[in-house]
Amino acid sequence: MENCIFCKIVQGEIPSDKVYEDADVFAFHDIHPAAPVHFMLIPKLHINSLAGVEDKHRDLLGDMMVLIPRLAKEQGCTDGFRTVINTGRVGGQEVYHLHIHVIGGRDRLPVMI
Ligand code: ADP
Repeated sequence: MENCIFCKIVQGEIPSDKVYEDADVFAFHDIHPAAPVHFMLIPKLHINSLAGVEDKHRDLLGDMMVLIPRLAKEQGCTDGFRTVINTGRVGGQEVYHLHIHVIGGRDRLPVMI
């Protein structure tokens, strides 16, 4: 999608520090990490937000969930991690391309509500 920074990251038009890529998803380190490990997993397909998912995205979202613990472990999260999906204005979403934050690498993460 035009003017979407995460689509541009997927296309390689904006540089990123890549964690993982396959045919359907892309993962990269957050530019402003909230913890020693902080990366984002996104679908290559442009979906605005979790509020925009449809039944046809079921397999894609399932694949992402299965991938997260593997990538988190590879990044050094051996004793847990946090996943965050900010959705819409009230959810504090800044970038309107669905993304799952994976955060860890600290002994105990502060509680975020
Ligand atoms: P929030 O900024 O409140 O966490 P989002 O959930 O929409 O809102 O998260 C967007 C995330 O994308 C932020 O953590 C931000 O640091 C990150 N980000 C923005 N631009 C880039 C970029 N070019 N490369 C890597 N991460 C980015």
